[in-house]
Amino acid sequence: MATRGKRKSRRRLNPRFVALCLTLVFLLAGALAWLTRDRGPAAEDVAVPDYVEQDYLTVNEWSRPGTGLEKINDVVIHYVGNPGTTAHANRNYFESLASGAEGVYASSHFIVGLEGEVVQCIPLTEIAYASNTRNDDTVSVEVCHPDETGEFSPVTYDRTVELTAWLCREFRLDPAQDVIRHYDVTGKECPRYYVEHPEAWDAFRADVAAEMDRQKAAEKNS
Ligand SMILES: [Zn+2]
Repeated sequence: MATRGKRKSRRRLNPRFVALCLTLVFLLAGALAWLTRDRGPAAEDVAVPDYVEQDYLTVNEWSRPGTGLEKINDVVIHYVGNPGTTAHANRNYFESLASGAEGVYASSHFIVGLEGEVVQCIPLTEIAYASNTRNDDTVSVEVCHPDETGEFSPVTYDRTVELTAWLCREFRLDPAQDVIRHYDVTGKECPRYYVEHPEAWDAFRADVAAEMDRQKAAEKNS
């Protein structure tokens, strides 16, 4: 009886077959990356900090369309452009647009006032009419200011930093990239002082990052 030797011959892989497999692997990896790409955290109806007063606009075509905000990629900072006006006055202006008489579309999620008060006009689950082409993936913050320079007063500045830091933490945003000015969307001079003084804008974002750390530490210790 002839003993059968071990088969040593290896099947040669067809190069075309290998190329086909590699192509398929790349295609699958690409599809997976596309499906799981970062589209920004979904907007949620989260509990806002104590200093925020919720005084929502009535749903209307001009200032609160009621359209869902599907994702939040950035926070956009604005200045109201009307020196000395309060957060409530600006909120009521947005509400007055509902009549359509002015023919103006405008609103904001939040308005930070001259005394550091904050009024929320639109739920975080809906879009506001503030940032043009970026309305559908951003949260907007309008900031009141005492004079034409558009510089925020210290108390207003600190509150804006605090609110922005909270938003960044809540929606997992990086202030270095995800906190932007209206100017960065449209080139509009808004918020004026922080467009004219880029170093003040850089300082603002650094202050937001520091405030995020402070809030984290405060939470740990509480
Ligand atoms: Zn603006």
